[in-house]
Amino acid sequence: MRVMKFGGTSIKDARAIRNVAGIIETHIHTKPVVVVSAMAGVTDILQDSVKAAAGQDASAIQSIIEEIEHKHVVVIKELLDNTSYFTKLRHAIHTEVEKLAVLLSATRTIRIQIDDLSHAVLSIGELLSSVILSTYLNYKGLSAQWVDAREIMVTTNHNKQIVPVLRSIKEKAAERILPLMQKEQAVITQGFISATSEGVPTTLGRNGSDFSASLLGAAIGAEQIQIWTDVDGILTADPTIIPTARVLETMTFDEASELAYFGGRVLYPAAIQPALEKGIPVYVLNSTRPQSRGTLILNHNVEADERPVKSIVYKENITLITIQASQLLLNTDMMGRLFQRLSDLRMRVYAVSKSATKLTLTVEGNAALQSMLSELPDIDRFDVMEQKAIISVVGERMKEHPQLAWKIIKMLQDKGIPIDLISQFATQISFMFIIDENNINQTIHLLHHKLIENNTRIHQV
Ligand code: ASP
Ligand code: MG
Repeated sequence: MRVMKFGGTSIKDARAIRNVAGIIETHIHTKPVVVVSAMAGVTDILQDSVKAAAGQDASAIQSIIEEIEHKHVVVIKELLDNTSYFTKLRHAIHTEVEKLAVLLSATRTIRIQIDDLSHAVLSIGELLSSVILSTYLNYKGLSAQWVDAREIMVTTNHNKQIVPVLRSIKEKAAERILPLMQKEQAVITQGFISATSEGVPTTLGRNGSDFSASLLGAAIGAEQIQIWTDVDGILTADPTIIPTARVLETMTFDEASELAYFGGRVLYPAAIQPALEKGIPVYVLNSTRPQSRGTLILNHNVEADERPVKSIVYKENITLITIQASQLLLNTDMMGRLFQRLSDLRMRVYAVSKSATKLTLTVEGNAALQSMLSELPDIDRFDVMEQKAIISVVGERMKEHPQLAWKIIKMLQDKGIPIDLISQFATQISFMFIIDENNINQTIHLLHHKLIENNTRIHQV
């Protein structure tokens, strides 16, 4: 058994769905449990419909409902021609869209919390895409059984905190999915959607389908999980800067986490944690080039390659603030207050560096920051440097090369690229530093060339 997850762009239209069906067919002997997202853009449209409902905008609601129905019907027309599959599916879509209409009008007739409405409405995207895929597989002669993920993915919903209940998910998956694996070739279910143990719809957060796939894989003890996207895997650098960036064959969970935090866009590693905790390998694969090998993510390092650096990532629009306050000498409350305010402003803090009376923080953006700082009583002064970038050099094997950080600094110095702040974590799987935004290209080219392309072991750098 394996879990195959397809994101919204992989099933964005009839052609893409045909392609995905072909991929599923080539894996059919493995009895896949297929997890799908909503068709690309659909969740956004549904989110707009919730806003329209909250604002009682009847004409906007009406046009969104029509748009949703149209978007899906166009696809099934192309996939199923005028067969009985088409007629049945057309009807099923219409029924689902009617439910959507009822939900969206509920704010007028009953008092419903917008959050509850939102979960129920957003679920419809995945319900529609999955029923289309499973019907299409049946039409192609495969025995694929559609399963409603809300019967399996149990979550809490206390104070708007949606947390999966692993034990219940495991029990429900054993009841609902494992018996089907005996008689069906594949099971088709939805990512992102879930429900409380009382059956009230919840959702796992935007882009939550990877998380669903990972939870489900862990629950059924899958032999592997495949995350099908529209890129070849995880790369050594941003291909818009380094067109020759190559796909990493393997990487560890910690490396993937570093990459995602500092700008890698392919995968949110927290989403695959449930699978990796169970030791289930996770593949990132490209549905538009199914023959490519993709990247394998494991919880331990297996790479025979001795290069210490796997990938170089960056984040733009970084602001560096240096706060000077004599209070910092003694008063730890001040740090607490400062971080609380940053968290209230939803500002993510990256590197931090502190001396006796100075504290430097790196944050993304800057909106509202200066006025917040001016309001804090204990600060003597602060300096703001904008348009900075964080560069992070990532690799599990960097641990074995403590001199690497120094070599990187030297490389930049030789090229006259100033560094504003340096941070190396105790775990030593990444080394990061702050530079001017307009030095990103040159820096990444330099480091990629010396540390990755050249394939030199580090002592030769
Ligand atoms: N359809 C949901 C979203 O767009 C979940 C997902 O795509 O993973 O956020
Ligand atoms: Mg999506």
